[in-house]
Amino acid sequence: MINSTLFPDVQLPAAERARGPFAAVAIERSLDKILDYEVPQGLIDSLRVGQRVRVPLGRNNRPEHGYIIAIGPTSDYPRIKPILAIDDQRILIPPKMMELACWMARYYCTPLGSVIDSILPSAVKKKIGLGWTHHVRLGKSPEEIQAILEKTRAPKRRAILARLLQIKPGESAELIRIASEAGTRAATVRKLVKLGLITITAEPDFNLPPAYYPKCGPEEAPPKLNEDQVDVLNELSPRIAGGEFSVNLLHGVTGSGKTEIYLRCIKQAVEMGRRAIVLVPEIALTPQTVRRFTARFDRVAVLHSGLPASARHRFWHQISEGKADVVVGARSAVFAPMPNLGIIVVDEEHEGSYKQDLAPRYHARDVAIKRGQLESVPVLLGSATPSLESWWNVKKGSGFGVGGSGQEHGHASTAAHATQSQPTLSHATPYHLLSLPNRVRNLAMPQIELLDMKQEIFVNRRKGVHLISRRLEHMLRVTFDAGQQAILLLNRRGYSNFVYCPSCTHLVQCRFCDATLTYHRSATAKARGGSFDEGLHTGQLHCHYCLGVNPLPPACPDCGKKLSLFGLGTQRVEEELARKFPNVHYARVDSDTMRNAGDYEKILSRFAKGEIQVMLGTQMIAKGLDYPNVTLVGVISGDTALALPDFRAAERTFQLITQVAGRAGRGDKPGRVILQTFIPDDPTIAAALRQDFVGFASSELKSRQEVGLPPITRMVRIILRDEDLAKLHEKSEKVAAAFAGQIDAEKSNVKLKGPMPCAINRIAGYHRAQILLFAPTAPPLQRLLAGVRAQKGILSSDRIAVDVDPVSLL
Ligand code: ADP
Ligand code: ZN
Repeated sequence: MINSTLFPDVQLPAAERARGPFAAVAIERSLDKILDYEVPQGLIDSLRVGQRVRVPLGRNNRPEHGYIIAIGPTSDYPRIKPILAIDDQRILIPPKMMELACWMARYYCTPLGSVIDSILPSAVKKKIGLGWTHHVRLGKSPEEIQAILEKTRAPKRRAILARLLQIKPGESAELIRIASEAGTRAATVRKLVKLGLITITAEPDFNLPPAYYPKCGPEEAPPKLNEDQVDVLNELSPRIAGGEFSVNLLHGVTGSGKTEIYLRCIKQAVEMGRRAIVLVPEIALTPQTVRRFTARFDRVAVLHSGLPASARHRFWHQISEGKADVVVGARSAVFAPMPNLGIIVVDEEHEGSYKQDLAPRYHARDVAIKRGQLESVPVLLGSATPSLESWWNVKKGSGFGVGGSGQEHGHASTAAHATQSQPTLSHATPYHLLSLPNRVRNLAMPQIELLDMKQEIFVNRRKGVHLISRRLEHMLRVTFDAGQQAILLLNRRGYSNFVYCPSCTHLVQCRFCDATLTYHRSATAKARGGSFDEGLHTGQLHCHYCLGVNPLPPACPDCGKKLSLFGLGTQRVEEELARKFPNVHYARVDSDTMRNAGDYEKILSRFAKGEIQVMLGTQMIAKGLDYPNVTLVGVISGDTALALPDFRAAERTFQLITQVAGRAGRGDKPGRVILQTFIPDDPTIAAALRQDFVGFASSELKSRQEVGLPPITRMVRIILRDEDLAKLHEKSEKVAAAFAGQIDAEKSNVKLKGPMPCAINRIAGYHRAQILLFAPTAPPLQRLLAGVRAQKGILSSDRIAVDVDPVSLL
């Protein structure tokens, strides 16, 4: 793979050049460089691209971990240090994954070492769960050992020494074997280490015990596909058989049988001897979906955050050896080291959780597409509410160029040039739209009913706080009386999100963030029947940004008068539900109550058995639930997400309402949705009411086009933070100037906005500023970022975050 033409023409005088071969090593700890190292004689035969090694770094040669990204005969650098050791003999990053990592490093503007670091599970790096065997090597020549043997009296030691003489120099033998053949114990053999006669090293045993493939009873016979499904499958099938890259967006309304399509596609791939990766937004929240995969296929590795480290390592190892046919997992499963991939499925492709909010800030859907391209396999994206990015890509009939421009990073390595030449997605990226416009078994779409909360409060003159309207209350009663179940959505946790003083209008804010505090009642007061006042005494104020928790002040800190609670949260709905329906069993599902992966599963199984009549929660309950007895969905406040200062607020609102509405009426009984809102005329609410994704998408795309926002443009967000406001200003002006200068120098068409304060000005004591970059396509942005980075205009430091294709703008 390595050939000399890949290495630069700069040739040093022979005398100054160190002797090759050399290896380019990406240092694991976000060092912004790739460094060349000498390959010592002893490692020449065993060193491979993709291995993890230890190398000396810095003036005092601190040993650091890194990854071999290329091996070649020459290097530009006269003084080169040798690699210290191979940390793991396995090729942890196979060639295609290395290409993917290089692409991510460029595209997401993150050092290659830290990209690879995040691709590999830490259990793999730390070799957790491996058995270790101890190997003995000779520390002296056989002649010396022979001489010692002749002088030794002790019979056990003589036996050991005699046995040692059978080890050839350079070879090793297992410690326990030597001990047993010499008729002694390992501890006795070990004593020879101190005398310098032998060395003992622990070596990993890669025969990992198998990980456990979850199994759940045999599946009922798969359903017979309906006509729409047959059409979709007929279109996909040749693409799977053809083994070519394509991106297929399956837009299917909720309950249209999308998952069944994924299952059939995977079956076809598996029957061809190929393998599949299935990404789901969050394993813990989609147990039903996951079970359908484990029920249909035999070797399904489910990767979830609750796996013990050793199981994680075993799965990873088994997957890399091709011993799993299907991998199901959240975001990071896109890096599963599957050989011979046949298809990648991204379920609920619009989900924000596919974006990682720490560096590398990658989007798993986009990485999946890039991986599909590198491995020449079809990628299947599915959703009832596709992201506007994907929708736009299909609509304009060409790729959105998830491809960098192949620009260089200005790193220090010359050997690394070998990795700079991979393909990028061209404008001809084959995007296809497939649709399932109807629910399976001719089931009706749920009927959505709008409830104007202004009317409810001002016209009906209801006393007190009622988050549940009379209409919703009535429908809940009807539902419970009929022995059916309901889901209530409120996208905000806690009890109330404003604590304020009615006398002086003081609003209690977080000391460290530019945000109001949310009042949470304490767990003890949560017990049903606990009075509101009781809760008040034991509750606390939480900051949802810095996660700080404070006591509720006994009175207004400014004027000493009594504080009031205002605004709504799931705890408050829970309280109201308990008051209105004292005999109904309910469960609250939000990140406060669901602390462990198992909590949600337990609730769901009780819900499935009918032990719980209503589930109330945040967007957690909007995902993938399929319970035929759910006939009513109540959206407590359709407006909550609309108010967020983010250009995707409307898109999110539409998605959330459509997704949660889709939980209703999945059985034979028709479903009904009550959508409460203060702004019934809002176009997003109106589109959600009509369940008109296509209409919503085209009007939303039009307004994004008018103001030049993604997906029509590509965007990069640079977030700076500092405890000192003046320093932040200074720094952000400097960074913005570096970008502006580079834009001029390159005559780039990138538009720069800022620096300006972030929507949330301060988080956890840090002031925040942002710079936004826009361009019609991705390559100019990539070029610009690389250029500014090469000029040291942005350094990898924790106070500057570069977010390419950001999904959140708070
Ligand atoms: P989606 O993923 O679009 O929400 P699912 O694939 O989960 O839809 O399908 C909803 C339900 O309908 C599932 O219980 C599934 O087993 C069932 N189903 C899927 N396809 C068919 C079909 N052709 N006929 C009958 N039932 C089907
Ligand atoms: Zn805070």
